[in-house]
Amino acid sequence: MKKKHSIFYHITIFVITQLAWLLLLGIWIYWYVINYILLKNVGEKISPQAIYEGTNIFPFVGGIVLLVAISFSISLIFRQLNVQLKLNNLYDNFIANITHELKSPLSSIQLYLETLQSRDVPAQKRNEFIELMTKDANRLQNLINSILEISMLEQKKVSHNYQVYDADNLIEKLVGESAEQFNLPPGTIKVEGHADCNCAADKSALKIVFDNLIDNSIKYTRDKAEISIRTFRSAKNILIEFKDNGIGIPAQELKKIFNKFYRIDDKNIPSVKGTGLGLYWVREIIKNHGGKITAASKGQNAGTAFKIELPIYKVSKKRFINRLIRQTIESTGKSIKGESDYV
Ligand code: ADP
Repeated sequence: MKKKHSIFYHITIFVITQLAWLLLLGIWIYWYVINYILLKNVGEKISPQAIYEGTNIFPFVGGIVLLVAISFSISLIFRQLNVQLKLNNLYDNFIANITHELKSPLSSIQLYLETLQSRDVPAQKRNEFIELMTKDANRLQNLINSILEISMLEQKKVSHNYQVYDADNLIEKLVGESAEQFNLPPGTIKVEGHADCNCAADKSALKIVFDNLIDNSIKYTRDKAEISIRTFRSAKNILIEFKDNGIGIPAQELKKIFNKFYRIDDKNIPSVKGTGLGLYWVREIIKNHGGKITAASKGQNAGTAFKIELPIYKVSKKRFINRLIRQTIESTGKSIKGESDYV
């Protein structure tokens, strides 16, 4: 296997390269000064009238500019390398996580199948096994689908299905569907406020956003999760705030959690399963809607709040939304519900 170098190895290489360039710069200055004096002396002896009296500093400055430019380029290459290295590390973690996520439901299905094959299992137990196997198979399918869909999203191959919705109705529906999907006891999610406006949204994509945020709130809460979803509006945007009573997020991690494959490496965090793809996916979907998402937390065990901003239909980002709707019409051949005058 190829040996992996640590970040310090690359820093050392970078420092050595920079020192080499500085040395070269020194040699260049030294060489220039010596030769300049030498040539001037020789010139004065051979043909004093041809000597240009002023100092011609252009070759000198040119040489320095060239060397500085090369040194700057090396810094840029190093920065790029650094980013790549971090991404590689995250990718390695992702492979470890995803392997675990794929293996555990598969092993459990295998175990149930072996038991069913080798033993005479009573009918009730058999049904129980089948139900558990179906759950595991669904888990596998969801995971594989999510990876495929993220890859399609990155390659801009997703088919658009943007429709115009009453924002409050849409949010209520999405919350209801997620609560049902996660089998949440009544009262776990509180929905407050209203936006009283329309938005252009891809409902199934927004469902992924709601599912991921609600799933995370459950995963990263030690006791019983309490989630509050508040909707309101500003002049141009619909604002949806998801608050939970979970383990919270340290300030320095609040931006990083949206990076691809990123998972917080903290021993206090309960060992929950994950791939580090959820919030990246959420952010990409929100960006595709012309909106943005941010996270806030007062720290450990103080809960987390995610705030989504979506442009209000016909008020904000008109050209952008127009394009989304046009793409939907082109890909589905259907006009937008009740809003065909818009495009
Ligand atoms: P995953 O949950 O698969 O690790 P995500 O992209 O969904 O990946 O989340 C990235 C990280 O952000 C998680 O590993 C977790 O540490 C942190 N996180 C996300 N949501 C919450 C939340 N509601 N409360 C606390 N931490 C969270």
